[in-house]
Amino acid sequence: MTDQADTSERKPKAGGKTLSLKRTVESGHVRQNFSHGRSKSVVVEKKKKRTLKAGTEAAPAPAEEKAKAAPAPAPAEPAPVEAKKPAAPEAAKPAPTPAPAAARAPAAAAAEKKPARARSGVVLRTLTEEEKNARAQALDSAREREDEDRRRAEEEARRFAEEDARRERERAAAAARAAEEAARLAAEQEARSRSAEDAKRRSSPDEPVAAPARPSGKELTTEEADEDSKPKRSAGHAAPKQPATRRNEERRRGKLTITKAFDDDSGRQRSLASMRRRVERERKKHMGVQEAPQKITREVVIPEVITIQELANRMAERAVDVMKILMKQGIMLKITDVIDSDTAQLVAEELGHTVKRVAESDVEEGLVGEDDAAEMKKPRAPVVTVMGHVDHGKTSLLDALRKTDVAAGEAGGITQHIGAYQVELGSGDRITFLDTPGHAAFTSMRARGAKVTDIVVLVVAADDGVMPQTIEAINHAKAAGVPMIVAINKMDKPESDPSRVKNELLQHEVVVEDFGGDVMSVEISAKNGMGLDKLEEAILLQAEVLEVTANPDRAAEGIIVEAKLDRGRGPVGTVLVQRGTLNVGDIIVAGTEWGRVRALINDRGENVPSAGPSQPVEVLGLGGAPEAGDVMSVVESEGRAREITDYRQRVQRDKRVGTGGRASLDQMLSQLKEQDRKELPVIVKADVQGSAEAIVQALEKLGTDEVTARVIHVGAGGVTESDVTLATASNAPIIGFNVRANAQARDAARQAGIEIRYYSVIYDLVDDIKAALSGMLSPELRETFLGNAEILEIFNISKTGKVAGCRVTEGVVRRGSHVRLIRDDVVIHEGKLSTLKRFKDEVKEVQSGQECGMAFENYQDMRKGDVIECFDVEVVKRTLD
Ligand code: GDP
Repeated sequence: MTDQADTSERKPKAGGKTLSLKRTVESGHVRQNFSHGRSKSVVVEKKKKRTLKAGTEAAPAPAEEKAKAAPAPAPAEPAPVEAKKPAAPEAAKPAPTPAPAAARAPAAAAAEKKPARARSGVVLRTLTEEEKNARAQALDSAREREDEDRRRAEEEARRFAEEDARRERERAAAAARAAEEAARLAAEQEARSRSAEDAKRRSSPDEPVAAPARPSGKELTTEEADEDSKPKRSAGHAAPKQPATRRNEERRRGKLTITKAFDDDSGRQRSLASMRRRVERERKKHMGVQEAPQKITREVVIPEVITIQELANRMAERAVDVMKILMKQGIMLKITDVIDSDTAQLVAEELGHTVKRVAESDVEEGLVGEDDAAEMKKPRAPVVTVMGHVDHGKTSLLDALRKTDVAAGEAGGITQHIGAYQVELGSGDRITFLDTPGHAAFTSMRARGAKVTDIVVLVVAADDGVMPQTIEAINHAKAAGVPMIVAINKMDKPESDPSRVKNELLQHEVVVEDFGGDVMSVEISAKNGMGLDKLEEAILLQAEVLEVTANPDRAAEGIIVEAKLDRGRGPVGTVLVQRGTLNVGDIIVAGTEWGRVRALINDRGENVPSAGPSQPVEVLGLGGAPEAGDVMSVVESEGRAREITDYRQRVQRDKRVGTGGRASLDQMLSQLKEQDRKELPVIVKADVQGSAEAIVQALEKLGTDEVTARVIHVGAGGVTESDVTLATASNAPIIGFNVRANAQARDAARQAGIEIRYYSVIYDLVDDIKAALSGMLSPELRETFLGNAEILEIFNISKTGKVAGCRVTEGVVRRGSHVRLIRDDVVIHEGKLSTLKRFKDEVKEVQSGQECGMAFENYQDMRKGDVIECFDVEVVKRTLD
């Protein structure tokens, strides 16, 4: 390109007189370089306007020469063609700046004008002040620009130099690494090849010695050695070529690639993927370090059912691993699926953990404290429930008794109806009355496992006698095993007839003391207060017999007698403390609710700080209203309270959703079997009294010494809710003969899981119960004699122990059958055979006359001459005929 610049020079006219025609087209060759070392020669033409000018002789040649020489130092940039025109006579240029830069700048060109003109012989005129300034300015800016260009060039040169140096360093480092590697390989090789050489030399000593170090490790022949040396030679030849390769490399490097774009002086940047890999590696390494210590075996608590996820969490294992183990067992499950405790245990043990099996109900463990030691117990007020037929005066009696409270006069007496109250007698003794008349209330409490009542007062109106609900009350009291006191009420009435009442009671197995029984009876009048003191005395007497005591110095336990949602006070429960002392601030659990005792209010409406045994109090602070009959306990922490109530709520929910099924006949029987009780409690309801009695008689006849059907309640009429509560409490099915249950009873039965069976034929009923009772009979075991064998010899075998060599004298001897060892007609041992051998083989049976070897399971003391009796046991199910 520089050549081209030269060609653009005009030829000066000779002597300034001759006119010459200049070429208008100038051409030249330029070599273009491309990437990858390719190059191409191109023709460049330059067209000019034809001009005619007077030329000067003055120094055309030196100017041309200078122009030619000047571009040499910095050929990097081609000079723009247009710039050449005014820059032509540059010989007298004042500043020795690099030519192309000067030539390029038009301002600089303007600065040169003056001398150029002088030389060309144009008349000089004095410059105006303006012109001078402009020139000075132009000169200054030209100089500045030159400086800048120079700086840039220098900088570029420095950068190139640095780049070169860096590459050189890299190359050197690579070479060093290669050398190191080669040295290492050589060193490795040396030992091997040397030993090989030695071996070779020993075998053929004339053969030329192979090159000492060779990476392949093979022995060398001469030819190979020559081959080996070739690369060295070629490397020598290639040496001069190296600059060319390097140039190529540089050229290649000049190309801008993404890698290069990100390349900086500190070296190549890592790719994103490589960074990720590095981070991942670090993480793994980190985790590996953590996992490296021995696998931690845990004690895994396994409830009755558990989800795979939860099990995995408890073991701190991955759920996938759990699933894998299950899959191996052929069980395909999802992470959210539930497995039973047995499966969970298998999995946990497979993973090397120990297992602690718990039932969910374990949360309740320890909730009800241990029984108190006798010496800790102190007498407490007896708790009395009043029961009886409707309108016989239960409410009236309770009201009348309330008035007998000696404190009544002082502090306004019992003002609150809180479901229970305590009266203080003149003697200082106290009696607590449950102010919740009705059998359902009584039994529903019992159904929840709460034994609240110590004594039942059975109210019978003297003018009315024993009525259906009186009978019901008797049955409820009997079922609960609570002693009764008969209060013959309405004695003020002229038509009252207490002896009639006593007689009628006799029919229901309630024998009053007057008739030689042990049931106390008191004649009273709720209306005029007659005999109330006697009734109270009787209660205290009964309590003394019962020895009602409790330990007041412990965390409180009690029963919810009544509970409601009070608009102003929130959930309010009346608690009858049974033992211990309940204090304000205690955390209590009652049924499915819990709370911190905010306040205790007694039956007089007073705030009290605590309540002891048999004392009824209203409790404020529960989260919700519990149910009457719920057991209340004090727990140590809110967490525990929450745990227990959560569990109970879950159970309650499940019960509602599930079938429940507590007292279906079959389940009842299985329960009875477990309890080893041979009594089937039933409740019989029939259409008429006659058929009810017939059924009861038929059922009673079914019984044997072993099993009996116990009719706990019988009555005429439909099945009521009260029957269902009694059934729930006693775990008894209900038999309805030609009657049906009403809606409430049906609902209650469904909820409690009580089975109600309906019959219209008495024989069907009896057959069913018979079948049920037959199921309760323990099956008969029948023995069948199989054979006898006599022991001829006893062998002591180290592994199996003693083996008897016998001959079967009678019948057959079978393996797996029962055997008896008989010595002098006395049975010494009874058990099973562990082995039965004939010669060396284990056999199933040995016939009479043959000899065999026998050994007992877990028994060794056999002697020569003993007889082994073999027999089968058959289990025969018995039936009631
Ligand atoms: P409950 O249904 O068993 O609670 O019986 P109540 O206490 O409501 O009494 C029913 C009726 O019998 C009421 O009208 C009472 O006035 C009346 N009553 C209760 N006790 C007596 C009593 O001792 N003598 C008389 N003459 N009437 C009584």
